[in-house]
Amino acid sequence: MSDLQPRAVAVFGATGSIGTNTLDVIARHPQHFRAHTLVAWRSVDKLAQLCVRFRPERALIADPTCENALKKRLDEAGVRCEIGSGAAAVTAAAAHEGVDTVVAAIVGAAGLASTLAAARAGKRLLLANKESIVMAGELLLAALREGGGTLIPVDSEHNAIFQCLPGGRPVLDRVGVRKLILTASGGPFRGKRREELAHITPDQACAHPNWSMGRKISVDSATLMNKGLEVIEAHHLFDAAPDRIDVVVHRQSLVHSMVEYIDGSVLAQLGQPDMRTAIAYALAWPERVEAGVGSLDLAAAGQLDFEAPDTGTFRCLALAFAALREGGDATALLNAANEVAVDAFLAGTLPFLGIAEVIESVLEELPAQPVVDIQTLLQRDDQAREAARRFLRCHC
Ligand code: NAD
Ligand code: MG
Repeated sequence: MSDLQPRAVAVFGATGSIGTNTLDVIARHPQHFRAHTLVAWRSVDKLAQLCVRFRPERALIADPTCENALKKRLDEAGVRCEIGSGAAAVTAAAAHEGVDTVVAAIVGAAGLASTLAAARAGKRLLLANKESIVMAGELLLAALREGGGTLIPVDSEHNAIFQCLPGGRPVLDRVGVRKLILTASGGPFRGKRREELAHITPDQACAHPNWSMGRKISVDSATLMNKGLEVIEAHHLFDAAPDRIDVVVHRQSLVHSMVEYIDGSVLAQLGQPDMRTAIAYALAWPERVEAGVGSLDLAAAGQLDFEAPDTGTFRCLALAFAALREGGDATALLNAANEVAVDAFLAGTLPFLGIAEVIESVLEELPAQPVVDIQTLLQRDDQAREAARRFLRCHC
């Protein structure tokens, strides 16, 4: 890849599933990519181990109470790098002049501030943190325009669509696109009826059949909220009206998504279900680099199945479409309610089917308002979280 410029990469959420996959790809190409900054929440040991291996210039731990422990671990290991902590330092690190590529892989709304800062600073923004675009799509795209940077989707479906479109993120009508078709694995409970889902445990929900991921997105996959968030993400990323986004369940997770054109052609991107393909594509774009992912053996796979999603059982997908059609800040409210509900489910205080109930009740209680600015949006996010917690106190 002779045309590839050496890139200084900041990995936000370095200790997570996307973060470690990103570092795996970076390690394969030391001549092209350097881990400049590593950011984690409070997993000191894991972050320290990554610093020993990747020798970044900066290591940031979001929880300030962990800073001394990180300092001590890095001193003991003989690693010299700049150390910082706290949410403000994390946000500022996304705009650091020494960084040209930011991998936004923090989970949840906690990733919004650094994602926005990277966009405003004109970085190459590799977006995995879908919650930030679901919450603040318009504001994020405005920040990107203001900063003049490039957004490259890491989420496998959007990365697939990005690969099937000519030249990145074109105006869909100008390039003859009829529809975007997102594939969904259906999660671990595909084909189950509602009554079979009443006593699902967090470990059952996190046991995804095809992908290995963090716990929050695993629960989102099990409820199909992940696909709902991805529909909203696709709407913003590709400026696609909700009616032009279809979801089809494809249990093998080999077709990562498709683009249908007005002449009837459907382009798909296929590959093994391994996030390193999407990450490597995003890191190297418009070039390609080896990702550590083997060939797709279609003869061994034998069969590709497709079916319509069951939105009666998995109501979160329908709720996400409804919030997108409602517009304004409804998708931010949906996201906030979902985060609170998923936390409660993972903590064992909310049944699996209660997740959709919490979201529905919050959306009923708080009618959507226009998105004005980030402060107002964060207040609305707080209101939705409070409404969700109130529901949990009354019903659980
Ligand atoms: P994860 O739980 O494995 O990792 C989350 C990371 O975020 C960790 O490094 C954690 O330390 C960090 N973090 C959490 N809160 C933080 C805070 N307040 N400040 C700073 N850092 C914080 O999650 P994941 O599965 O890697 O997912 C990350 C994001 O990528 C999510 O938005 C998810 O939806 C998206 N995504 C993940 C996958 C996947 O395969 N895992 C695929 C597509 C999209
Ligand atoms: Mg995805």
